[in-house]
Amino acid sequence: SQDRVFNFAAGPATLPENVLLKAESELYNWHGSGMSVMEMSHRGKEFLSIIQKAESDLRTLLKIPSEYAVLFLQGGATTQFAAIPLNLVKPDEPVDYLVTGSWGDKAFKEAQKFSKAKVIWSGKSDKYTRIPSFEGLEQSPDAKYLHICANETIHGVEFKDYPTPKNGLLVADMSSNFCSKPVDVSKFGIIYAGAQKNVGPSGVTIVIVRKDLIGNAQEITPIMLEYKIHADNNSLYNTPPCYGIYMCGLVFEDLLAQGGLEEVEKKNKKKAELLYSAIDGSNGFYRCPVERSVRSLMNVPFTLEKPELEAEFVKEAAKEKMVQLKGHRSVGGMRASIYNAMSLAGVEKLVAFMKDFQAKHA
Ligand code: PMP
Repeated sequence: SQDRVFNFAAGPATLPENVLLKAESELYNWHGSGMSVMEMSHRGKEFLSIIQKAESDLRTLLKIPSEYAVLFLQGGATTQFAAIPLNLVKPDEPVDYLVTGSWGDKAFKEAQKFSKAKVIWSGKSDKYTRIPSFEGLEQSPDAKYLHICANETIHGVEFKDYPTPKNGLLVADMSSNFCSKPVDVSKFGIIYAGAQKNVGPSGVTIVIVRKDLIGNAQEITPIMLEYKIHADNNSLYNTPPCYGIYMCGLVFEDLLAQGGLEEVEKKNKKKAELLYSAIDGSNGFYRCPVERSVRSLMNVPFTLEKPELEAEFVKEAAKEKMVQLKGHRSVGGMRASIYNAMSLAGVEKLVAFMKDFQAKHA
């Protein structure tokens, strides 16, 4: 609408307008209950219906097999960096990390505290611009799992297919491409994601975990990090992030109404292609450092040939209601995050602006 901006932030990020409007209309008095979702008991029948529908819609969206539990937790994806080794292995057991960006690196560093974690490949020396071929990967012979970050939010590097760990499980951080495309959940032991990019507000962390992996946590595991406690209590062991879960539920409903993740992926591909071809077709005025075959559909980093123009680019874009285009402080340049809720119109406007800006400054 007129008074909203195009928000290219990496997360918290833009949410679908119709979801926000629905939440607004239900805010004061949810479905005649006489209260808002924020005020409800998490054990009351109203909230139970909300969390159950959110889970069942997510199961439909991702076609989650019944052997998997879906948990709505707190603490962000960062808490899962510790929870994963704590729940899956003993302190002296080996686990592998394939590091394609700074989130994977953070996950590895945390896992070192609770397991014998090893980096089997790192893209750091190439400034995190690629993903290795899986054939050449040497996994540790006894590694209990292989961890990947399916989409590196800062570097814009996304797995298009997945390695099959020879001796163990695949564990994936999908924080920044969760529900952006169909995923074969059965290939993974665990999929986890912070909600605040594609599916809701911050404060909710979704963990999809194969049920046979639950129940082997290390003794020192804090109770809030134990999958078994949360699975046995349907994510209601303690007070969950009720309002956030409600918002995620509205987003899941919206994704289903769009025709599910196949349709969502088509839209995401179209947006990303438009933006990448504008970058590639700019004769070097703009440049995306990421190898083409692994460019993210969600986070598009790019640099300007003349870095001294970056501040002006950001300022001029903001005047046209396109905000949050500055790259992450660790890498500089620009980054446009174009999650599910970013409209094609938003990307078209950005591309038109980029062409204009180039014409003025080339
Ligand atoms: N993993 C990825 C891929 C992320 O993008 C982020 C957040 N930007 C995190 C983990 C950390 O998530 P949180 O802030 O929810 O702990």
